[in-house]
Amino acid sequence: MDLLLVFYSLVFILILVSPFFLNHFIFSKSLIPDNNERKILLDNLRDLKAELDTGKINFEEFENLSIPITEKLEALKVDIHSCKSCGYELKNINVKFCENCGAKL
Ligand SMILES: [Zn+2]
Repeated sequence: MDLLLVFYSLVFILILVSPFFLNHFIFSKSLIPDNNERKILLDNLRDLKAELDTGKINFEEFENLSIPITEKLEALKVDIHSCKSCGYELKNINVKFCENCGAKL
């Protein structure tokens, strides 16, 4: 087989898969971890509620276990940064103006 053909095939494959790698390594890092952490915390809360409903734990235990989880959830909400005038959730923390209503932050 022609060596150039092999080379061009490899370049072509690289071009084809590069968007997926970029998407995976650059964009997923900034957005998904927070969502994942929130999802895990919500799952934990749901599990606790299920255990309370089935009688595995009593209400006092449920409260003791759920308070740290809800505190973490509150902390995550603060990290997300929302606009004070319209409540829009800002994806970029470094912006000076709201993307939705234009209010100064
Ligand atoms: Zn706003």
